[in-house]
Amino acid sequence: MPRRHFVKKHVPYEHKAPCGRKRTFTSETEALKAAESQVLTSAVQLKVYQCPYCTKWHLSKM
Ligand SMILES: [Zn+2]
Repeated sequence: MPRRHFVKKHVPYEHKAPCGRKRTFTSETEALKAAESQVLTSAVQLKVYQCPYCTKWHLSKM
């Protein structure tokens, strides 16, 4: 039985995207700035990554 292959349309804000509730940044610089200030206030290490779903930038705990 062949597996069905879904081709995702390019929809930036899809409800089912796993990043739906995450903070979104339009550039790596923005995300890095936010990560930096969050590290100062909460001492949590964050990494910045570009999202394959919405092609924007998010923060993720390390
Ligand atoms: Zn995303």
